[in-house]
Amino acid sequence: MKDASPQTIYLSDYTPFGWQVADVHLTVKLAPKATRVVSRIHFQPNPNAPAQDFFLHGEELKLIHAAIDGTEVTPELTPQGLRCDVPSGPFLWETEVEIAPAENTALEGLYMSNGMYCTQCEAEGFRKITYYPDRPDVMATFTVRIEGDTPVKLSNGNPTDSGEGWAEWHDPWPKPAYLFALVAGDLVNHPGAFTTMSGKEVELNIWVRPGDEGKCAFGMEALKASMTWDEEVYGREYDLDIFNIVAVDDFNMGAMENKGLNIFNSSCVLASPETSTDANFERIEAIIAHEYFHNWTGNRITCRDWFQLCLKEGLTVYRDSQFTSDMRSAEVKRISDVIDLRARQFPEDQGPLSHPVRPESFQEINNFYTATVYEKGAEVIGMLKRLVGDEAYAKALDLYFERHDGDAATIEDWLRVFEDATGRDLTQFQRWYSQSGTPHLSVSEDYADGTFTLTFKQETPPTPGQPDKAPQVLPIAVGLLNPNGDEVVPTTVLEMTDAEQSFRFEGLSAKPVASILRGFSAPVVLDRETSAEEKRFLLAHDTDAFNRWEASRDLARGCLFDMVTEGAGPDTAWIDALEQVIRDGDLDPAFRALMLALPTQSELAQMLHAKGITPDPDAIHAAAETLRNAMAERWSSLLPELMAATRVTDRYSPDAKQSGKRALGNAVLSLQTRLDGGKAAQAQFDAADNMTMQLSALSCLISAGAEDAALAAFEQQWKDDRLVMDKWFALQVAATKPETAAPRAEALTKRPDFDWKNPNRFRAVMGSLAMNHAGFHAKDGSGYRLLAEWLIKLDGKNPQTAARMCSVFQTWTRYDAGRQALMKAELERIAAKPDLSRDVSEMVGRLLS
Ligand code: ZN
Repeated sequence: MKDASPQTIYLSDYTPFGWQVADVHLTVKLAPKATRVVSRIHFQPNPNAPAQDFFLHGEELKLIHAAIDGTEVTPELTPQGLRCDVPSGPFLWETEVEIAPAENTALEGLYMSNGMYCTQCEAEGFRKITYYPDRPDVMATFTVRIEGDTPVKLSNGNPTDSGEGWAEWHDPWPKPAYLFALVAGDLVNHPGAFTTMSGKEVELNIWVRPGDEGKCAFGMEALKASMTWDEEVYGREYDLDIFNIVAVDDFNMGAMENKGLNIFNSSCVLASPETSTDANFERIEAIIAHEYFHNWTGNRITCRDWFQLCLKEGLTVYRDSQFTSDMRSAEVKRISDVIDLRARQFPEDQGPLSHPVRPESFQEINNFYTATVYEKGAEVIGMLKRLVGDEAYAKALDLYFERHDGDAATIEDWLRVFEDATGRDLTQFQRWYSQSGTPHLSVSEDYADGTFTLTFKQETPPTPGQPDKAPQVLPIAVGLLNPNGDEVVPTTVLEMTDAEQSFRFEGLSAKPVASILRGFSAPVVLDRETSAEEKRFLLAHDTDAFNRWEASRDLARGCLFDMVTEGAGPDTAWIDALEQVIRDGDLDPAFRALMLALPTQSELAQMLHAKGITPDPDAIHAAAETLRNAMAERWSSLLPELMAATRVTDRYSPDAKQSGKRALGNAVLSLQTRLDGGKAAQAQFDAADNMTMQLSALSCLISAGAEDAALAAFEQQWKDDRLVMDKWFALQVAATKPETAAPRAEALTKRPDFDWKNPNRFRAVMGSLAMNHAGFHAKDGSGYRLLAEWLIKLDGKNPQTAARMCSVFQTWTRYDAGRQALMKAELERIAAKPDLSRDVSEMVGRLLS
């Protein structure tokens, strides 16, 4: 049953639940179409809550019976749950419900994936398993008995007992229902072990389908590295006897941090050199770390309500990025994070879906697992750390764990910890959590008598529901170079708090060149009028790797802008300046590979739009092509040299050193393909013995229009590997020419192996279509139409994944009237679908408002 009219939930309406749960006993009798869930729950009145009806969440449940203290009761049932008269003191609540995991295509609650039972309860999936106060501030210990004939049966906590056809688990740590998990199936484990800092032995397992055992070793090493890192850097030790990870093929998101039983999208844990790219390996390492780190930031300290989602997600993303920086290159990680932030969070924050890091209302919480909550949430923590310093940050975190262990906490709690640990007033800083939108920071410079003055202005454009903005606290990291390229003022963090503010540097012997917003010290748009010459100077001399990269990126943006708006030619001065960096063998190849990438076409569209010019996706695409061709031609002798210099002859390893070389070599290969039509790419494809080299070569062949043989060979080789075939589906749409993107995507949807109910496969095709900027925005509207049709179809089966993908329309008001009308019509068509889910309905409503 669906909601007739979706309700809006407000942060300001928060009230505690009227009862506390002492403990939960569940018995789950598994059967694909008729699983029985028996619950026994001890409730007692909550002395800190206002009087209220006894209401338990429950959706799509068949109630078999309910009892209070052993006496049968008849609750009032609604589509959202049940209401019942209850005694005024403590009581034992018992119910039995029936559910059908085999029919659950939404992948929320208990469902089946390839014959295996699994659960997903965040955010509000537990209510599809049994009646319960399904809210994060109700925490309880769980005892779970699983009955069924599958060989493996897992739940949270520690195993306590088992026998023929049953197993019991007990989780001693009180937790909210969203961290509940159950897995049962024919699974095999890759075992491991870890000794914690206090000497406790922990059993580790990665559980997979038979046949995937060979793809677990890397994940296991990443898990152990994460456990060590959290002990060394945050002093956090693991707290159960066993830690299980399970790989599941059908999963809406990347992975889930259920207590002691993390469940992963198989694409985020299974890895082998033959089937996974270097980027896959790095992502797997980061996600394993992320979910493991949640054990403290999320599980031991959870969120009071879903508005506080960034409390656990922003912090955990921040922690996993610190981990990756320590495991690999901090500079490369920072640049990659900013690329990602600009590609995903900036468009969100600058369009109709803009919302604060801590939203104040929602209809469907699933729609707020966003780049703003996660990535901007992590940026906010990075700023906090920059402002208070590393030592004070460590002190504040210790206090956070000490004060709030076992709590369901809020952002106010989090900030108070920093205030108490540092003596700082964070009232103004709090705006980073409540104000949406990306601040624009402009700067002017003045030099006289040895004094250099930087004057900054900040302004945040209006966003939905927030027409007027107040100034925010901006940590602006600045360094000064003198004209011969030496650094005269090392990185200094300026703390801007006003709308307009000046900072002075004295005692300089000549006008310096300023390197501003080093390390991207605040998530803002920096508007800076500097000459191309000064940017080339920073590209050559800046000691800050991020700003070196940014100087080049800026030059590339400027060049593409001029090409699109004035018909200018490629900026050969930039290409030559960049060549010096690319040739520099002392620089990390991974860094050089990042330097070779152009700004994305979507980023350019945003830049044009911000300057009052309507972006033409075809013109942007053409300019990028012309510029790439010019780079290739100008470097025609350099490219083969670099390909030779980056060749890896050692046995494959996904480490930073080797993967950096391959990244540079493959960036070069894509330029080389423009000169030889795919000859070098074909040779690389034929010789490849790992997925990184094979897939990069295939990508080049597709861009060159020379892919037929390679595509067929790839399919023949990998047709039985679902995860590799996802790459095959995705690449054809992402790398093809704009005019063939939508037709190819459509043709792929007609294949029998386009298993669209699998979120990975759906995203492989439809997500890639949206990534092909000029292809998605084809003038005839074919890209929009295809996507809308499929979103309508998917909404009936999996609203969460359908709703997430609606965000590809979030930039629709940027484009010309013709495209706008086409996109609006598709959004309206989606909105008009009968029985539209609450998830998609909220997204489309916000997009159209
Ligand atoms: Zn997370």
